[in-house]
Amino acid sequence: MTSKTLDQFLHKNLEELKSQGLYNEIDPLEGPNGPMITIGGKELVNLSSNNYLGLATDERLKEVAMEAIKEYGVGAGAVRTINGTLDIHVKLEEKLAEFKGTEAAIAYQSGFNCNMAAISAVMDKNDAILSDELNHASIIDGCRLSKAKIIRFNHSDMDDLRAKAKEATESGQYNKVMVITDGVFSMDGDVAKLPEIVEIAEEFDLMVYVDDAHGSGVLGKGAGTVKHFGLSDKVDFQMGTLSKAIGVVGGYVAGKRELIDWLKVRSRPFLFSTALTPADVVACTNALDLIMDSTELQDNMWENSRYLKEKLKGLGFDIGESETPITPVVIGDEKDTQNFSKRLYEEGVYAKSIVFPTVPKGTGRVRNMPSAAHTKEMLDKAITAYEKIGKELGII
Ligand SMILES: *Cc1c(COP(=O)(O)O)cnc(C)c1O
Repeated sequence: MTSKTLDQFLHKNLEELKSQGLYNEIDPLEGPNGPMITIGGKELVNLSSNNYLGLATDERLKEVAMEAIKEYGVGAGAVRTINGTLDIHVKLEEKLAEFKGTEAAIAYQSGFNCNMAAISAVMDKNDAILSDELNHASIIDGCRLSKAKIIRFNHSDMDDLRAKAKEATESGQYNKVMVITDGVFSMDGDVAKLPEIVEIAEEFDLMVYVDDAHGSGVLGKGAGTVKHFGLSDKVDFQMGTLSKAIGVVGGYVAGKRELIDWLKVRSRPFLFSTALTPADVVACTNALDLIMDSTELQDNMWENSRYLKEKLKGLGFDIGESETPITPVVIGDEKDTQNFSKRLYEEGVYAKSIVFPTVPKGTGRVRNMPSAAHTKEMLDKAITAYEKIGKELGII
């Protein structure tokens, strides 16, 4: 017999989510996650993936990944600190440091895992973390895991941050104080006010941790939000993911040599979870070379973003204040948002609705992620569908 308590808990809560329109159905893709995808036998324009530069399906990367499997096998065989560190892991980390302009870097198995690892390796119960209220779930969980006091500040509100930084440092209660922020906020596409954050950090001697999952490969000629603002030597932790613009999987922190040395002996997923696979590592290293060698993919991505935004705005949609390719179309009500997304699907466009709890209640949106790999024809197809459905549902 399995647990009756568990059955009751699951049934009650699942039904509740479904009745509120908050239950997320997962649609498996029948093929690669490129600019066009197939779901349920239907071809759709894909505006939902984080594959900014189209690298997830890049032929050059597929080729080197297959070579890596032939040479090294499919698995790393152990955690990094036993004997799962292959020479290609070291090369990837050197490449990441070069990419970010730092002394060193450490790679993890995912971005999520990286935030869980790095924050708690440095912060403990005698410390405090000033955290933007819209920070990613992995930052929130990483902060919780550290047991440091979490002090949330209002989203990108520098007066609030300054006041809370002053209070935390002057209280004398904490050994160390960190400020942590997304570089690019993934739901709205706005960019953190890093110059002001760094200024406040200097004033109060705070550590600065920037999670640039959505900025790397996108801003700063590819190097990310920190580089975009020219602050590479003022941010202690430049965290990023290898799964978005880089197109593969994994996460990393780039920073000073001693920070990376510390993370290599103290961050638990590095010590207790098997290393990235050879194919992932080699694909990531080569993706970084592609990004550093040419801005062609980024130029295409920005051109496609400008085009999509201009057209959707022109039609009268509320596309928020995004400064990056992330293009939200804010609908508001959760059920209306899900309905809009469902209608897009019927019209051959895959753009996912994002609702509470991922975003605050009443700010449901359909989020569009234009990439370097889209053609104008694909985007036009999406824009036509938006116009039709927007009129049909009385949104424009
Ligand atoms: C996606 C994301 C992560 C997690 O990265 P993964 O590599 O997908 O685990 C972490 N932080 C932010 C801000 C993200 O957007």
